[in-house]
Amino acid sequence: MHEFDLIKHYFTWTPVPSEVRLSVGDDAAILQIPPHEEFIISVDTLVEGVHFPVATPAHAVGYKALAVNLSDLAAMGAHPRWFTLALTLPAVNQTWLEEFTRGLRELATEHQIFLIGGDTTRGPLSITIQVMGTAPKYQALLRQGAQVGDLILVSGNLGDAAAGLAVIQQRLNLAHEEATDCIQRLNYPSPRVELGCWLRDYATSCMDVSDGLVADLKHLLKRSQVGAKLYHQNIPLSGALHKLNLSTALGLALTGGDDYELLFTLPQQHLEQLKQYQLVNQIKLSVIGEITQQIEQVSLDYPLVNLPDGYNHFQ
Ligand code: ADP
Ligand code: MG
Repeated sequence: MHEFDLIKHYFTWTPVPSEVRLSVGDDAAILQIPPHEEFIISVDTLVEGVHFPVATPAHAVGYKALAVNLSDLAAMGAHPRWFTLALTLPAVNQTWLEEFTRGLRELATEHQIFLIGGDTTRGPLSITIQVMGTAPKYQALLRQGAQVGDLILVSGNLGDAAAGLAVIQQRLNLAHEEATDCIQRLNYPSPRVELGCWLRDYATSCMDVSDGLVADLKHLLKRSQVGAKLYHQNIPLSGALHKLNLSTALGLALTGGDDYELLFTLPQQHLEQLKQYQLVNQIKLSVIGEITQQIEQVSLDYPLVNLPDGYNHFQ
């Protein structure tokens, strides 16, 4: 298949949204953004063998490449709008491309984000997606803004994806059903886009958890110039992780990567509204701690080893 036919077949999407004046096919795309909104842009690359295991199904690769980017938009409270795709392929394998596009398109359709352009090259498998979103001017959520006394919350469960990866790499043994669930979480993260948009009116700071809770929390603490106290009993664990011993499960939840959940801070007076949101939207949200004055210090009421620097233990 010739490169131009490939682009036409797999990456020329329809129907084109009205604000996209020009899409795939020219030298660049042209977009129109509403006057009261601003652009929010992020890019992430997934390299085979580095960001996802070799032999990950093509459908999952397409899905995840977009999911990790949507998660960054979610963390900002942005509405997803458009994306570009730079694809490096070792060879043109039509079965692989068919499945890759199906996974990509499934999530794109769910979040109404539209492919407006990209680049296709030959080389070791790598996928770069740049996402573009919008939010009302000056309303986006940032990592800075957390205040002493704010509650610290996280969406979903933590540590499943890390457990899934450990199973694939034969570093961890789980029963068949739990192993399958964890690998599913590794391959198919759920970007919390709607939650992020809702949080614009309530959260004081927000980010997504991609490199492990404690490591990411420390970035938020640094930007906000505050500290954090975490309660180990509130760290949200799936049924699969509950079957492990507590230290192993907490280790995965606090330091494992690839969760793509939202980590945010909330003034205590908004807790009732949050509970309402949680009820209506059937999403798991856990209060895992509180913001403190000790700049960049994370403390946990459980004696875990192997936590990053700046961590300390309290009773
Ligand atoms: P140029 O040489 O001008 O960069 P290309 O041949 O790379 O043009 O791309 C032609 C058109 O196809 C452009 O509109 C580009 O955005 C689009 N395109 C190329 N590869 C992809 C892809 N993987 N996904 C989406 N659009 C693509
Ligand atoms: Mg090009």
